[in-house]
Amino acid sequence: MTTHDPIERLANTRHEFGEHGGVNMSIEASTTFTVMKPGTMPELFEGRKSAPEGCYLYGRHFNPTVYHLGQQLAAIEGTEAAYCAASGMAAIAAAILQLCETGDHIVASNTVYGGTYALLHEFLPAKANIHTTFVDITDLEAVRAATTDKTRVVYAESIANPTLRVADIPALAKIAHAGSSALVIDNTFSPLLLSPAALGADVVVHSMTKFVNGASDIIAGAVCGSTEFIQGLMDLHTGPLMILGPTMDPSVASKISLRIPHLALRVAEHARRAAVFAERLQDLGVPVAYPGLADHPDHELLRNQRCEDYGFGGILTLDLGSEAKANELMDVLQNKYGFGFMAVSLGYFDTLMSCPGSSTSSEMNDEELSIAGIGHGLVRMSIGYTGTVRQRWQQLEAALQDIDAIDAS
Ligand SMILES: *Cc1c(COP(=O)(O)O)cnc(C)c1O
Repeated sequence: MTTHDPIERLANTRHEFGEHGGVNMSIEASTTFTVMKPGTMPELFEGRKSAPEGCYLYGRHFNPTVYHLGQQLAAIEGTEAAYCAASGMAAIAAAILQLCETGDHIVASNTVYGGTYALLHEFLPAKANIHTTFVDITDLEAVRAATTDKTRVVYAESIANPTLRVADIPALAKIAHAGSSALVIDNTFSPLLLSPAALGADVVVHSMTKFVNGASDIIAGAVCGSTEFIQGLMDLHTGPLMILGPTMDPSVASKISLRIPHLALRVAEHARRAAVFAERLQDLGVPVAYPGLADHPDHELLRNQRCEDYGFGGILTLDLGSEAKANELMDVLQNKYGFGFMAVSLGYFDTLMSCPGSSTSSEMNDEELSIAGIGHGLVRMSIGYTGTVRQRWQQLEAALQDIDAIDAS
């Protein structure tokens, strides 16, 4: 039965048993695969027989363990196919290179992950003559105005890093498809919460390093899209994943695959706690941004696009006004109260805190930061689920009092 629920789709994917009947799939540790007849080999190379339906060829091409994790991602995202890469950046770069030729143009959100920004702003123009116009992705008129007959990609993050502005995916898809562009959505911040493909995105990319893996021990990425698109990524002659070779190791795929079954539980709990903290911070008068708050500019938009089982995501930001104040807060939270860790990244079981203006978005200059609305005193928090809500809230409130961000009462 077809279903629109990612968790139901996931449960409907074929269970991979281990080689000896183990409940967990085996790790396919081979980099090369035998063919039973000599004639099969040329067929594979000529693309007349393609893995995985045909047979496997070589570990940088499809690997069964990595393929299975891809199937899980495809089920979650509701796409025909998906494949994994060694990192989120590898997945993003491969997807873009698959869609653009030299001389082509991209319209991208001006608030994207720093590495993506560097790829689009520095790397692709220099290495591939692919140029990007950055726009406020919530300004649909600006997006439309920026597209040209050379535009092949409209690129946005479902929930932007670190501004937490939400992409209007159906509207962006309409703009992209009115020309000859594909809409590529980075869904790293909102797995399960948002299903960009169902909303009109052509390609969905993930840094699985974050929520999907959830333990901050693995760098990994995925590209989700049509079967044709994913086969294109793996083409033996022109596929960016195959030719550039950012291959995921099968043992990594096995580890991540074992964490997929509790992704829904984790995402729901991250979101539940983020919502509690956001509401209480707002009650205390602390400048907090969280898409679940009614005053967030995209609250209604996200409410209409999301799957309500996962709240409004696990990330919130606080604006402390200055970098010094932001650092003071993070210092006290980590070193006095043990509330969380000063570290980049997100989707970890403990709370991670960083100042995007001087870390993950430092690829942007002051003017670009200000246009994107990223103040120097902005603290991004990826809310964890260790400890109790009561205990974590006490720590957060005490830290805010210590730095005089709220009155001691
Ligand atoms: C971390 C991140 C990336 C890059 O992923 P890596 O796995 O570190 O390569 C891309 N997009 C977003 C939104 C991210 O948070």
